[in-house]
Amino acid sequence: MSRFWSERVAGLEPYKPGEQPQVVGMVKLNTNENPYGPSPQVRAALKGHLTDELRLYPDPESARLRDALAQRFSLNRQQVFVGNGSDEVLAHVFHGLFQHKLPVLFPDITYSFYTTYARLYDVSYRMIPLDDAFALNIEDYRQPNGGILIANPNAPTGRFLDLAALTTLLQFNTDSVVVVDEAYIDFGGQSAATLLADYPNLLVVQTFSKSWSLAGMRVGFALGQEPLIEALNRIKNSFNSYPLDRLAQLAAEAALQDEAWFSTTTQAIIASREQLAQGLDALGFSVLPSAANFVMASHRRPASELSAALRERHIFVRHFAGGRIDNWLRITVGLPEENHRLLQALREILVP
Ligand SMILES: *Cc1c(COP(=O)(O)O)cnc(C)c1O
Repeated sequence: MSRFWSERVAGLEPYKPGEQPQVVGMVKLNTNENPYGPSPQVRAALKGHLTDELRLYPDPESARLRDALAQRFSLNRQQVFVGNGSDEVLAHVFHGLFQHKLPVLFPDITYSFYTTYARLYDVSYRMIPLDDAFALNIEDYRQPNGGILIANPNAPTGRFLDLAALTTLLQFNTDSVVVVDEAYIDFGGQSAATLLADYPNLLVVQTFSKSWSLAGMRVGFALGQEPLIEALNRIKNSFNSYPLDRLAQLAAEAALQDEAWFSTTTQAIIASREQLAQGLDALGFSVLPSAANFVMASHRRPASELSAALRERHIFVRHFAGGRIDNWLRITVGLPEENHRLLQALREILVP
């Protein structure tokens, strides 16, 4: 707190990102990064551009990247928006599409940036409780609203809502924007992108941070019909005309060209996730069904204690202290040997 702060700054509740520890030899399973790294073609593409051309501004429209995404999703460039990570895309969604009189609806347990953005942009919101098994019931969303925001698969639960359920939700909610945050969609879900032609109020948000293994480059995108994308462009061009730097645009374009790397690595993560879930189950954990690159697990031993004991062994997982998920751990799926080290450590902790 400082006397130079405005009331607004003093009243903010900034998002707390998962920690980025600097421990040599650690097993880092706390922020859902992809253990495989980006396609080798990304490195090759970047190398060729570490030149004097970095003195020039990047393409403010990210035209090539948007064309590549449009092609991938059978859309046109005007139906694709790109931002500096999907976090920035979501910020523009709150700013540009959710500022209405009625509250935006989202689950009580979901990506905690949503409440941060709502407060930053003075968007009123209502959190709808997930059921006891952390499942989302779309009937709860049948109420007047200024927008609906659903992470699918949800984070940090990993639970997935199928396309039939989302379609029903879109059918009864035609007067406000429905945003589906698909940060983890490539790990086993069905994207709502196939519904875009039928629903002018649908916006699908994805990221290169998880399945494309480019969290360090900060590239996210939104897909929707032109008027929604135009709203995001109006905000973007009133905020920062060059949100994606040259290297980020190139990296994302190169990643999209290596479909083989993408499918091999995502399939490997899916297979490891199932093994990890089985290993945890065998140690007495309850594990939620996951369609993401992480699992949520709970044990009769307190999650805070397990997380601390793992940390002593330089294994980092995410524990959200307080609230309904206080006794759960969110564990990112790592490389097979990392998952093995985690299970080994838990075995030592639980059966000394
Ligand atoms: C990781 C994540 C994001 C943010 O991704 P960036 O593109 O890295 O900003 C958005 N939504 C959810 C649900 C996430 O887990």
